[in-house]
Amino acid sequence: MKVVNSRADFVSLRCGLLGRVGLVPTMGALHAGHAALLRTARQTCDSVVTTIFVNPTQFGPNEDLGRYPRTLEADLAACEDAGVDMVWAPGVDDVYPSGPDLQVHIDPGPLGSQLEGASRPGHFAGVLTVVAKLFQIVRPQLAFFGQKDYQQFCLIQRMVDDLDFGVLLVPVPTVREPDGLALSSRNRYLAPDERIAARALSQALFAGRDAAGGGDGAVLAAARAVLAGHPAVSVDYLELRGDALGPAPTQGAARLLVAARVGATRLIDNVEVIL
Ligand code: AMP
Repeated sequence: MKVVNSRADFVSLRCGLLGRVGLVPTMGALHAGHAALLRTARQTCDSVVTTIFVNPTQFGPNEDLGRYPRTLEADLAACEDAGVDMVWAPGVDDVYPSGPDLQVHIDPGPLGSQLEGASRPGHFAGVLTVVAKLFQIVRPQLAFFGQKDYQQFCLIQRMVDDLDFGVLLVPVPTVREPDGLALSSRNRYLAPDERIAARALSQALFAGRDAAGGGDGAVLAAARAVLAGHPAVSVDYLELRGDALGPAPTQGAARLLVAARVGATRLIDNVEVIL
């Protein structure tokens, strides 16, 4: 496995990669969710590139950029285990040579200011712009993203379609702890009592999914009832949408999404619901 930091070193090594190149973009602090992306990429691609970059432009001024976990040694071991060919761990200057305050960026459109975007103004412009830059520099044929960040996946798919990026996006199902909590690099912020309370998110989603036979009202009522029993969980949104995040259909595939604060930690999760 090759590990490089500078953009120049990455670009020169990239030239030597053969066949179908798969990209797994990450912010590091890798866990079994990331490992599932890497494994899926390894199974489908000739060459696997992963990037480890905590992108400053997707963090709001009061978010956790400064304390976001950085665990490079362990991350490299996880990449090696997964059979990654090349890790690019650039610095901010490698990705933004003229500084992160770009004059031109990707506008995520109306969906970018809903759900996560309503609580995190500018977040998806930051995400889409850095993903566009990574696509340009890495030039992958395929790119792998987790369904844990469902809105992010939908917006990247939209960008690829609307702007003809020609990259095949592969969604990877959410990896969960045995008690249902979706793995996240931010779970390590949770105190022990908060970690227990955090189970309410997935429990609410599963209860909603199980109530789908009763229609959309029953889904939301079942999920709300679970969350209401956990005062330590402060809900930001709980919404049922269509599977591309338009309005929920009366029948067929829909998505139930939740965001909540547990103590100071903001968590998100979602599941498919068949109405
Ligand atoms: P991050 O490092 O948080 O930016 O995540 C990098 C990629 O890993 C994104 O595509 C995420 O959706 C994906 N990911 C994060 N957590 C999980 C999880 N629990 N299961 C599957 N994929 C995940």
